[in-house]
Amino acid sequence: MTAVGVFGGTFSPIHYGHLRSALELVERLGLDHLRLMPCAVPPHREAPSCSAQDRLAMVELAVAGEQRLRCDRRELDREGLSYTYDSLVGLRGELGEGHSLSMVLGADAVQRINTWHRWRELLDVAHVVVLARPGWEFPREGEVAQWLATHQLDSAAALNEQACGGVLIEELRPLAISSTEIRSLLAGGHSPRYLLPEPVLDYIQERQLYL
Ligand code: ATP
Repeated sequence: MTAVGVFGGTFSPIHYGHLRSALELVERLGLDHLRLMPCAVPPHREAPSCSAQDRLAMVELAVAGEQRLRCDRRELDREGLSYTYDSLVGLRGELGEGHSLSMVLGADAVQRINTWHRWRELLDVAHVVVLARPGWEFPREGEVAQWLATHQLDSAAALNEQACGGVLIEELRPLAISSTEIRSLLAGGHSPRYLLPEPVLDYIQERQLYL
């Protein structure tokens, strides 16, 4: 059984919080590879100030040279809102039924997962891996808390025993870096250097993004 991960986000811009988490997950979960998948039109937040093409280009620069991390551009190739469910169905179709597919998201994103399009059906297509993130807690009550408790797996090994249907909570190295902070450093004339890869910062500066 092959195991593949997919990590969706705005990536405006991609930073070491995303990248280090992605690589640690590949190693901890024994993934063949993990796809970073920038969204074109996020359904649940304001449109990012930077174009989808630029965000995609920065993800591509960031993963160049690391075979186990890849950039997945399917949401940019599709019209309309970027629904994760549709992307997972597409990925599942490419991967085939017998392989493990895990969708990764941060603790902040899981709090609102019950507002996502066809959220309860996500587990029919993939596993969900939730990353603990500095400053964020998991919901303790309500339908998301109940959903987490019902589907929670007790070990990473269980992800490779079935193709989909489980929720795994992983605590990785906490890196308190956010794209919001990087954008405000840039807008305030400060340097975000060492919070994100150098080629990504060069790209931002050449195109004068986030000023
Ligand atoms: P913003 O500050 O604009 O909201 P962000 O830094 O949260 O951006 P996103 O592109 O929105 O980045 O995040 C994509 C996914 O990566 C989300 O599931 C988010 O929870 C997760 N993520 C972002 N930063 C980190 C981090 N430092 N550690 C772990 N997960 C992270």
